[in-house]
Amino acid sequence: MQKLLICTDLDRTLLPNGTQPESPQARAIFTRLVSRPEVCLVYVSGRNLALVQEAIQEYDLPTPDWIVGDVGSTIYQFDGDCWKSWQSWSQQIAGDWRGLNAVDLEPWFTDLAEISHLILQEPDQQSRFKLSYYLPLEIEKNALQQYISDRLKEKNIAASLIYSVDEAKGIGLLDILPAHATKLHAVEFLMNQLDFDLTNTVFAGDSGNDLPLLISAVPSVLVANAHVDIVAQSQQQAKEQGNIHSLYLAHGDFLGMNGNYSAGILEGIVHYYPDKKKWIE
Ligand SMILES: [Mg+2]
Repeated sequence: MQKLLICTDLDRTLLPNGTQPESPQARAIFTRLVSRPEVCLVYVSGRNLALVQEAIQEYDLPTPDWIVGDVGSTIYQFDGDCWKSWQSWSQQIAGDWRGLNAVDLEPWFTDLAEISHLILQEPDQQSRFKLSYYLPLEIEKNALQQYISDRLKEKNIAASLIYSVDEAKGIGLLDILPAHATKLHAVEFLMNQLDFDLTNTVFAGDSGNDLPLLISAVPSVLVANAHVDIVAQSQQQAKEQGNIHSLYLAHGDFLGMNGNYSAGILEGIVHYYPDKKKWIE
């Protein structure tokens, strides 16, 4: 069996919740494709489990085989009845934070003049291994991130700082995760455990927290509705990493669709795996 691992971000990648239009048939074609027995489907999102489930309902999405939530810091499998957190993944990443949780780190970043721009996100945006802040778009974020990184290093905490922009809200998002808990690490862990490799995996995304995957060796597609800044950043960084061959920019014109959202995902899948076109037509 010619199996295929399809990993996709949700907001503004599979979910048509941006300002650009969605091609009318695209999501139905995507749903038909992922219903094939050869396909293993993974949603890779910044959302927590409850909010992923909400999106599945609201947009009538197919139920995936796996959910990578909280920007890579959780992995869930559906056991036929309910979603179960994958403990091997939590154990894998817990060491980076020496057994501490996000609530233990949070007090280190309060009442400090250097980080007065940081606004703690709502409780439902926080999780055990994800400490999330809002950041005004206009501030100089590099110095701030450096300051946070230094504080964490002093405390012997290995962390990844992931910055994205919430275009709808017009605000920056800063996620502090265990160093090995980004979306890239979670997808690599799944590939490893499920016996997929770079020849039968594809990822689709649109924003900053997708960058680690977009610039990696994992065959990746940037949907056509992605912001121009992300297009430029991912191209430059993929080039620097020697991975430009594994970054595809959807542009539309595939089966008469516009390349936005699920149309872009389908276009990218066929770009990397032309033999799968017969699964789509
Ligand atoms: Mg997104």
